Amino acid sequence: MKQFSKKSRPPVIWLGTNTCAGDMLSLLNSLEPGYQSLITDLIDFRFNYLLGSAEGDTATGVLKAVTEEQRGKYILVIEGTIPTRTNGLYCVVGNRDGKPLTALQAVRELGGGARHVVAAGTCASFGGPYAAAPNPSESVPVQAVLDRKVINVPGCPINPDWMMGTLVHLVQYGEPELDGFNRPKIFYGDTIHDICQRRAYFEDGIFAEKPGDPWCMYKIGCKGPVTYADCPNRQWSGEHLSWPVKANTPCIGCTSPEFPDGDAPFFEHLPDINLPGIKISANRFARLAGAATAFGISIHLIGSILTGRVADTIKKDFSGGISRKLLSIIKNTDGKRYGGKN
Ligand code: SF4
Ligand code: SF4
Repeated sequence: MKQFSKKSRPPVIWLGTNTCAGDMLSLLNSLEPGYQSLITDLIDFRFNYLLGSAEGDTATGVLKAVTEEQRGKYILVIEGTIPTRTNGLYCVVGNRDGKPLTALQAVRELGGGARHVVAAGTCASFGGPYAAAPNPSESVPVQAVLDRKVINVPGCPINPDWMMGTLVHLVQYGEPELDGFNRPKIFYGDTIHDICQRRAYFEDGIFAEKPGDPWCMYKIGCKGPVTYADCPNRQWSGEHLSWPVKANTPCIGCTSPEFPDGDAPFFEHLPDINLPGIKISANRFARLAGAATAFGISIHLIGSILTGRVADTIKKDFSGGISRKLLSIIKNTDGKRYGGKN
């Protein structure tokens, strides 16, 4: 196994905000390199919300010390959304001087001095399940509260390789090439559909009728045509054993900005787009979605709304429900911007 240069180990803070902890737990499944190699050879974990044992002022003191002493040198990883309701009190990451330290405060304080800021998982990157309807905590993605670039590593949870590879790249080679949503292209450069082992079935029109069938999952809801990730090649678990379509169930598009509200219903297929003078089939959606719109609403969804070929529940969400509400939260978060392009 390749050993990393110890002298290049940068300090890393891994902060948990509104999260189920799935991303950090997934990272622990990495095998090449493994977690032990990560913390002894690659990075210097100064703070990890899940694995650290310190509490109270001791723990928050570490955050303060890193911010002051390692300015411009540390990597800040954030897992989870940032609740904005009631000045962020829906997520408290610790206590400081007898007062709660909210995730909103902590991310803003730590974000300014970091060498890199990385959003781990779809919640931190785009809002994900924690910002899904009805979003009572008024949660937003990390980018919405920071006026600087955030590298997004989405997935629900992240594949261990996506985060490990991003950290390795940052330490060894600097910032990886990013797409329009600030995702590393090395992991999110192709659609699932483009590299799917069942693509031939799609082209030949041989479709599964139910989960468990061994053919193309398009008709039972596969979001592979509009989802950017390398799951078919990389596969999941540390040993790269399987992925949803290989297990005979559709891809639900968890690395996409619109996940989960925009990808539901998960078991209904993507509609074709019929715009005046143009018809776009599912296998071309992805190229359009790659140049996707502000605020993470993809072309296919807009097309679906325009043509009325989308479920009423989704129409409701995007015409006056949570997604509009989320956008207004994002726009109103102290004027900070949630954007894709750098
Ligand atoms: S992106 Fe998924 S795995 Fe990560 S915190 Fe959100 S719900 Fe959990
Ligand atoms: S629709 Fe899904 S299952 Fe079918 S070829 Fe595309 S990615 Fe594979």
